Amino acid sequence: MATRTEVAIPRGDELPGHGSTFGAMLEEFNVAARLLKLDPGVWKILTNPKRQIVVSCPVQMDNGEIEVFTGFRVQYNITLGPAKGGIRYHPDVNLDEITALAAWMTWKCAVAHIPFGGGKGGIICDPGKMSKRELEALTRRYIAEIVDAIGPEKDVPAPDVNTNEQIMAWVMDTYSMHVGHTTTSVVTGKPVELGGSMGRREATGRGVMIATREAARHVGIDVTSARVAVQGFGNVGSVSAELLARQGARIVAVTDWKGGVYNDSGIDIAKLLAHVQQHRTVDGFSGGDPLSHDRLFSLDVDVLIPAALENQITMANASVIKARIIIEGANGPTTPDAHRHLHDRGVFIVPDILANSSGVTTSYFEWVQDRYGYFWSEKEVNERLELKMCEAFDDVLQTALKYTVDMRTAAYVVAINRVATVTKMRGMYA
Ligand code: GLU
Repeated sequence: MATRTEVAIPRGDELPGHGSTFGAMLEEFNVAARLLKLDPGVWKILTNPKRQIVVSCPVQMDNGEIEVFTGFRVQYNITLGPAKGGIRYHPDVNLDEITALAAWMTWKCAVAHIPFGGGKGGIICDPGKMSKRELEALTRRYIAEIVDAIGPEKDVPAPDVNTNEQIMAWVMDTYSMHVGHTTTSVVTGKPVELGGSMGRREATGRGVMIATREAARHVGIDVTSARVAVQGFGNVGSVSAELLARQGARIVAVTDWKGGVYNDSGIDIAKLLAHVQQHRTVDGFSGGDPLSHDRLFSLDVDVLIPAALENQITMANASVIKARIIIEGANGPTTPDAHRHLHDRGVFIVPDILANSSGVTTSYFEWVQDRYGYFWSEKEVNERLELKMCEAFDDVLQTALKYTVDMRTAAYVVAINRVATVTKMRGMYA
């Protein structure tokens, strides 16, 4: 007779959504939950989103026509505190993806040891083709549609793919107009002038740099001479590259949505940033040779940093990867089978929920400062961040060594333990 656990808990690969991004999250979760012999009831709670909101956002476009955009906000779990997570604008956004991203935020906040649950939002749109006025109208309408569900104690959005400080300012203003007073702590990643934190914009990249440094130390690679390839040159990829180059690392390759650049003696990141400011892409940069997306992964580098979107490292390209360390700047860049393959080959992978957690950690600092009404210097923010990130890295590394598992499973073990403990302490309502 099978035990209750075996009967009650579907494996990730048995779920209807298998093959989906949420299915991938479940596969990762279940490995750690099995290891922990997680209570079946808590298992069920933690594998279901608490709340999924879908809204239609009509916007009058510049040509006078009305477009209706679909927006999502998922509050995956609020056991440790208010839901926390970014809002992304992208044509491929869908509910499955946003739910997976909201779940990852839950585990990320728990690994980072900050008092937040996990959430995520998104709008199906192509911001590159929209005017500033259209983006503002869309942002305000989306926030108006979800205004009752968000708030400093409920759910605190932040930037993500294709959203920025200006969009967060509109989020803050729209919410404040609805409640009748300025409420800075409803959203993080705001401009510093209106309650943003020093260091927030660079925080995710700074954390990726710290994770790379710590991973290199563990693996026995000298980060000051490491060869690094970066996929994605948005906020995360560009700051990671800049800060690693400052440590002495050689950034030999960068790709983005349009193209890529390779320079064996190291790309001049300051010049590349100037090129991107003008052209919105690394494509066409004269300080190196053109590089295709496919070639990036097969380069002879020490460190590979996927800092773009989900599902980039798959079984179709994992076997060509030569890097000894992968630092997941993006959320969900590696599929579970590709992760197993790479781990078996001895690649040291620092998972997303640890590697890119400094963004949300600094969002937590921003929320604290807003609620306190007292702001820290950049030095203070960065010192606190360094401490938090090193603690999180060490918690996960020690767990990996204790259970003899990969860093991803270890990060889930840390996260699930924290959320499950509080779930049980709080008990069941009604
Ligand atoms: N969007 C970022 C992430 O995926 C930051 C979220 C936040 O600061 O709330 O971690």
